Amino acid sequence: MLRDMFRLRGVTKSWGALLAVDVDLELARGRTTVLLGPSGCGKSTLLRLLMGLLAPDAGEVTFDGGPLTLLARRRIGYVIQEGGLFPHLTAAENVSLPARGSPRTATDARIAALGELVQLPRSLLSRYPLQLSGGQRQRVSLMRALMLDPEALLLDEPFGALDPIIRAELQQDLGRIAKQLGKTIVMVTHDLGDAAALADEVILLRDGRVVQRGPLTALVREPADPFVTHFIEAQRAPLRRLEA
Ligand code: ADP
Ligand code: MG
Repeated sequence: MLRDMFRLRGVTKSWGALLAVDVDLELARGRTTVLLGPSGCGKSTLLRLLMGLLAPDAGEVTFDGGPLTLLARRRIGYVIQEGGLFPHLTAAENVSLPARGSPRTATDARIAALGELVQLPRSLLSRYPLQLSGGQRQRVSLMRALMLDPEALLLDEPFGALDPIIRAELQQDLGRIAKQLGKTIVMVTHDLGDAAALADEVILLRDGRVVQRGPLTALVREPADPFVTHFIEAQRAPLRRLEA
């Protein structure tokens, strides 16, 4: 079995004159990697390259040693920024979308199991996304991404729009799910708290390039570049002032 689930070799992606991503990366199997960085640094573009939704301008992306074919993409769950639920479908209908064509009883059993995993009360499954809170919607998005029991899970700012209490709850639940399922998780965020709660490894990006990767503690203690310290301190400083 290959140690790395994703490999990006000499991968670049530009939007017009803007070089959005320029990386050489391997992402280890069974671990949670957090892609961290300020808004506009290329996190979502990188995630879409990993999912095969975008083709790189140069270089190659492989998943489990092979190309990102349609079949390979079914082995990857993906939650886009803002969750991406269809407003005209109920939570249960949204969750069952990836399993179109499967027997109804199998799908219903899977939905029930996933509901338990992400702790979404059964009574909410018949509601439309607008009838759910932000946190509940994110749980439904996560259920949909897990529907086909993917080996890898890509999450784009999954807690972006949530208040701090709900955010902390979901961080804990996702951490539990990650441990329980042992999946390869790649999560995009600009939030240090998300990284602290969930990351085995952090990859800090700036202008589409990797500035530093490693455990978050290493970035804090041995920053490779002043930008690392600047990025971390921008989020920690307000709390420090309170403690002083
Ligand atoms: P992040 O997710 O880190 O905020 P993105 O990957 O969304 O960053 O964007 C990286 C850069 O690429 C930004 O400057 C953004 O404006 C630009 N960009 C992203 N998607 C497109 C697109 N479809 N067309 C043109 N520019 C884009
Ligand atoms: Mg983004």
